Amino acid sequence: MIPDYDLAIVGGGAVGAAFAALAVRAAGFSGARVAVIERERPPAFVAGEAYDLRVVALSRASTRILAAAGAWEAIAATRISPYERMRVWHASFAVDSPAALEFDAAELGEPNLGYIVESRLIQSALLASLEASGVSILAGAVEALSLAPDMAAVDLGGRRITARLVIGADGGRSRVRDLAGLPVHTRDYGQQAIVANVATARPHADTAWQRFLGYGTLAFLPLANGQCSIVWSVDNERAAALRSLDVPAFERELTEALDGALGEVRLASSRVAIPLVATRAERYALERCVLIGDAAHTVHPLAGQGVNLGFLDAATLAEELAAGRAEREDPGALRLLRRHERRRRPHNELMSRAMGGFNDFLAMGHGPMAAVARRGLGVVNRMGPVKRVFAARALGIAGDVPRFAK
Ligand SMILES: Cc1cc2nc3c(=O)[nH]c(=O)nc-3n(C[C@H](O)[C@H](O)[C@H](O)COP(=O)(O)OP(=O)(O)OC[C@H]3O[C@@H](n4cnc5c(N)ncnc54)[C@H](O)[C@@H]3O)c2cc1C
Repeated sequence: MIPDYDLAIVGGGAVGAAFAALAVRAAGFSGARVAVIERERPPAFVAGEAYDLRVVALSRASTRILAAAGAWEAIAATRISPYERMRVWHASFAVDSPAALEFDAAELGEPNLGYIVESRLIQSALLASLEASGVSILAGAVEALSLAPDMAAVDLGGRRITARLVIGADGGRSRVRDLAGLPVHTRDYGQQAIVANVATARPHADTAWQRFLGYGTLAFLPLANGQCSIVWSVDNERAAALRSLDVPAFERELTEALDGALGEVRLASSRVAIPLVATRAERYALERCVLIGDAAHTVHPLAGQGVNLGFLDAATLAEELAAGRAEREDPGALRLLRRHERRRRPHNELMSRAMGGFNDFLAMGHGPMAAVARRGLGVVNRMGPVKRVFAARALGIAGDVPRFAK
């Protein structure tokens, strides 16, 4: 029996949609043989409306991947916020102290360090690119999965879809991962990220500001309308207390938490709190099934790496599938999928552990290790070559860079 599709991607979020677009546009799969299954399509993105609360900082590698996926042009024409500098410091030092770490695009010979973009805009542009390529976007939630030697099947509550390969791109609480029985390590940080958009008395200067507080982390990401998107990660108890404050009291706390670096801060949106959990799938691949993006790993948001890692997964898998196609390999063959896993898992694990370490020692930490880490920021700042290595890694242009990210 011939399966309905070559590839069935479960989850049309940023990572699943980017992978599907790359598969069709750059890895030799026909749009008609690729399906994306999405349980909840986001409302259409309308430019000119207030900024969404969910934004991500995209690395250079990610914007290249989005270009290869046929979505970057539309995203850039709609609404993006480039940032040119990044300043990271610890609450035991002043913002302009030599112990702060600063990255400057000009010093690195780059036009900027990346772009802040609304998640819904990225997803909408990718889904539009998919539809233009003839990919079927099927509405429904996967409820069951079966993996047979010759094909995989997913059940959407009454409708059965078969494919040579099922790609689990269904986010941190991946149903595909659980149904496939892929073991996962979970670390509940006991923290929440409070997210909001704010106006600041002083201009953000196209700089991403991040302060390690000793009780959490506070990031101000610059938006093109002059406002900032904030991500304030604190323990559950403090998050509940902050959310219960009235607006003026919350604004006072926020202004103080950034040590007045941007002057008085005013809320420009509602506040939402997102629980922070790190997950790491022990394996990404089985015969006929593979995980990418948050389904394979979620990391602490303090360095804004989550979706960037997911795009690298998408690009690497597309590259391996394209190479396999040239050799007439079955896309669902475990041998092929393991090549993807071997390239991505060590890198993702390293990032996950690094984010955990930053959180433990810089954001929350007390004691000797925390003191060493705090001083480390200033030391890295003074060591040009080391700083450049950090920057290249953060831009996604060093290490094992997949073809579509070059
Ligand atoms: C506060 C915060 C700030 C962040 N900031 C950054 C940042 O600056 N930079 C960065 O790189 N990352 C950032 N991240 C991480 C980033 O948001 C995620 O890594 C990214 O959204 C993951 O994309 P994804 O497509 O893998 O998963 P998701 O965005 O979760 O998409 C999964 C999709 O699958 C669908 N789905 C789920 N279950 C099913 C099912 N059973 N059947 C069908 N469809 C299903 C969902 O509807 C959804 O559309 C941040 C995260 C947080 C919490």
